[in-house]
Amino acid sequence: MLSFTGNPLDRASAERSDPAWIAAQQARADALFLPIWQTKPLLKGDRAGFLTGSELDLTPDRPCVFLGLRDGTPLFAVALPDSEDPPLTALGEFKEMRAAALVLPDAECAIAGQAKSLIDWHHRHRFCANCGAQTSSADSGYRRDCPGCGTQHFPRTDPVVIMLPILGDECLVGRGARFAEGMYSAFAGFMEPGETLEGAVKRELQEEVSLAVSSVRYHTSQPWPFPSSLMLGCYAEAVSKDFRIDAQEIEQARWMTKAEVRARLAGEIADGIKLPGTIAIARLLLVDWVRTS
Ligand SMILES: [Zn+2]
Repeated sequence: MLSFTGNPLDRASAERSDPAWIAAQQARADALFLPIWQTKPLLKGDRAGFLTGSELDLTPDRPCVFLGLRDGTPLFAVALPDSEDPPLTALGEFKEMRAAALVLPDAECAIAGQAKSLIDWHHRHRFCANCGAQTSSADSGYRRDCPGCGTQHFPRTDPVVIMLPILGDECLVGRGARFAEGMYSAFAGFMEPGETLEGAVKRELQEEVSLAVSSVRYHTSQPWPFPSSLMLGCYAEAVSKDFRIDAQEIEQARWMTKAEVRARLAGEIADGIKLPGTIAIARLLLVDWVRTS
């Protein structure tokens, strides 16, 4: 399964707004808490490092973010203070989210991504964007309220279009200026206010490679917790193979046939050119495209 997708939790969005219900869930002996330290989730080996309240020494009033119910068990995320050295070393290891995504089971990867995005949002939104006053967590972590002006702030999800241009038996892949050496991938960019999905795909391809596109087909999406994007994977039907790279963002681009992409995905060509890794939706776009004849 694509990393960060398939989150199995019941988010109990009707119940979680009730402070008494949430307090009771948090106080349950079987409640589990995923600690996040410096944006890294705790891992116990190759599993998510869920801890009980007593292992964490949690006080009942400690603010936690409710993640949801898993088979009736309440799961929470909890932010640990930004200490220099990692805490809880006897109980597990804090791992960078990308590294964690490579080893965690699918469901735990999706839950850890949800936890990281929410904790990160709280960390970055401690002050009201409207009046500057300090805000406080509400609705079990799905809102921040401003006591100064009354504004309610909600967690952000930023849509990003990511698209593979195709023409017949070939697709266009590009190298961003900041990519790892030899890496070629699909093209991507943030959607802008007032844009449709199709409009954003066409604009990005025009800006990055001056590629004209006749139609856009949505394929699949992926929550991407860096810090809180939603990748919207699409195929874009190119009008012709003509392109011109915009050296600001794109360093190189090249058309690849299905046979070449298949061979590269299988690791059969060792010339230094790489395609995206397994956690990236760009790889899924390539894999699903070469699967069709
Ligand atoms: Zn305010």
